[in-house]
Amino acid sequence: MVLVLELEHVTKVFTSGLFGGYEVRAVDDVSFEVGEGEIVSLIGESGSGKTTIGKLILRLLKPTSGRILFRGEDIWSFDREKLRRYYYKNVQAVFQDPFASFNPLHKVDRVFDLVFRNFLRGVAPGEREELIKRSLESVGLNPGEVLGKYPHQLSGGQLQRILIARALLVEPSLLIADEAVSMLDASTRIDILNLLGEFRDKFGTSVIFITHDLALGYYISDKIVIMYRGRIVEWGDAERVFGNPLHPYTRMLLESVPDLSVRWEFKGIEPEREEERVYEIKGCRFAPRCPYARKECYEKPPQTIEIEKNHHVACYLYLKG
Ligand code: SF4
Repeated sequence: MVLVLELEHVTKVFTSGLFGGYEVRAVDDVSFEVGEGEIVSLIGESGSGKTTIGKLILRLLKPTSGRILFRGEDIWSFDREKLRRYYYKNVQAVFQDPFASFNPLHKVDRVFDLVFRNFLRGVAPGEREELIKRSLESVGLNPGEVLGKYPHQLSGGQLQRILIARALLVEPSLLIADEAVSMLDASTRIDILNLLGEFRDKFGTSVIFITHDLALGYYISDKIVIMYRGRIVEWGDAERVFGNPLHPYTRMLLESVPDLSVRWEFKGIEPEREEERVYEIKGCRFAPRCPYARKECYEKPPQTIEIEKNHHVACYLYLKG
């Protein structure tokens, strides 16, 4: 498989007075790959580091250590011009709150301006209108119903589709969808997920889908990366991770998803019992919440091991000896 993106031992440390002047390893030695046409979900609660990873990939933050490669090139080797014209053309993003991406005083059409200014400079005005209309149609919108409108005249689902149309207008290799459907109602969510899947199938667009919702991740993904407090605890093919969840945290997350085949019972995620300074734990950061934690869990992080083909876990329960 051709790799679009590779994260190699990426770490991001924040030092802030907000955290009492101590270091927070928000992303800690994270490695994973995204292949061409692959949908990879990063799943975890808030504070898991998944959004920080999105920002690192978008070069909004610089890693403290480690490398991020786009088609084999370190993204921090790109100069300003290459970053703007090449990288940001190929790597587009859609974020959680569609309303925040629009200026309430301007018609929604304005969001396309930047795309034409940065990436599609040679396009003539007549052709430009045509391209916008076509891209809106490709995300299931009627251009006549949305163009010329102000954001408050449209629904969250329509606005998010406009932002996806804008992102896909430049035919990116990789789309980062950071909680991109979490503010939408259930049926619109599924429509948007189906849309991302369609683009993957039609154009080979890779997607990094960042979410706290395991069910959505399962619905859309080829590969799942489960994160807890900055570290990857389990990753692999979506079918394998969901069919045979290994890490106690993954199991806890799965238990919080209602099972429609049995009597509905929401167990919820166990309230946090973690120590205040969880990032200072030398070993497994899930230990304060884990029913199986033992002494060694607090002392050294467990190695990641492959349990079956394309299914890895970092937990002492699976380490022999
Ligand atoms: Fe629990 Fe230890 Fe596994 Fe961490 S390494 S999940 S504390 S058993």
